[in-house]
Amino acid sequence: MRILILGPTGQIGYQLSQLSKSAIDVSEVITAGRREADVLLDPLDRVALSNLFAEVQPDIVINAIAHTAVDNAESEIELAFQLNADLPAALADQCSQHNCLLIHYSTDFVFDGSENVPWLESSGTNPLSVYGRSKLAGEKAIQISSCAHLILRTSWVYGGRGSNFLLTMLRLAKERESLAVVSDQIGSPTCSYDIAKATLELCERYKDDEEFVKSKRGIYHLTAFGETSWHGFAKEIFELAEGYESLAIKQLSAITTQQYPTPATRPAYSVLNCSLLKSTFDIELVDWKQALETCLKTYYKVNL
Ligand code: NDP
Repeated sequence: MRILILGPTGQIGYQLSQLSKSAIDVSEVITAGRREADVLLDPLDRVALSNLFAEVQPDIVINAIAHTAVDNAESEIELAFQLNADLPAALADQCSQHNCLLIHYSTDFVFDGSENVPWLESSGTNPLSVYGRSKLAGEKAIQISSCAHLILRTSWVYGGRGSNFLLTMLRLAKERESLAVVSDQIGSPTCSYDIAKATLELCERYKDDEEFVKSKRGIYHLTAFGETSWHGFAKEIFELAEGYESLAIKQLSAITTQQYPTPATRPAYSVLNCSLLKSTFDIELVDWKQALETCLKTYYKVNL
């Protein structure tokens, strides 16, 4: 079983490439991206992509490449669509030709956040941002293709590496005595490690029962259990981090989205209902607070 991981330098891609070395019984894992340590790949170059598939002959392709800078995407529309919509379309095409499984990530930002119950895979989409629209276009391109696929929608990704809310809060908590964080956006913070682990469990399942996984092709929600606001997330981060190091932060106040305007509009309530993943593949992630605690333990083991 050969697994091709695209984007091994990103938050999820890195965890995938690390975990796949030990946690999965496969004959080969190939990583492709912009680092010299990986097979070099320009994801916008269709000939290079086709050559990569011909050379690697993967059984599973995991696409962790994306334009994830949500605010920048408002002004980088072409690049956002190239990476988030055209690339998944090209990958679906290659996966169809090579009869391999495509695992792709999507986002809670495909929803407008106007409901206050967790969104189902079948709930109506209505993205509010360029990022959300480009990711939805990527989902649709894969869905209309004939390739076997699993589209995993996740949310509020954080971890010990990369650009994310956890690391930003840890930095600011050491620099500032007071901080104001938005409290009227509700979602489920999800650790990159947990997403990678669940993804590799799906790969194992495919290895054991290819036909079953192929018969279950579609979109699945994959986030930590539970919900909070960005303010609630920051509060929990500071409380846990204080057990490891001294922080400058003394006051954390709650503000509204209106008080913190950003170029991209975010959904107010983007909690995803993950019961389909549980009932289909028996995979479910732990509560977000428990996951954060575990993530910080690992982070401080490496960074103190
Ligand atoms: P990151 O932003 O951490 O990583 C993105 C990856 O894409 C990196 O490997 C990056 O390479 C690569 N990449 C970006 N632009 C290019 C380019 N022009 N050419 C080549 N490679 C490029 O992403 P995450 O791990 O956070 O996200 C993974 C998936 O999860 C995405 O599909 C995203 O939409 C989805 N998701 C993420 C959420 C989040 O909060 N981050 C929330 C919900 C879904 P390099 O390191 O070289 O820049």
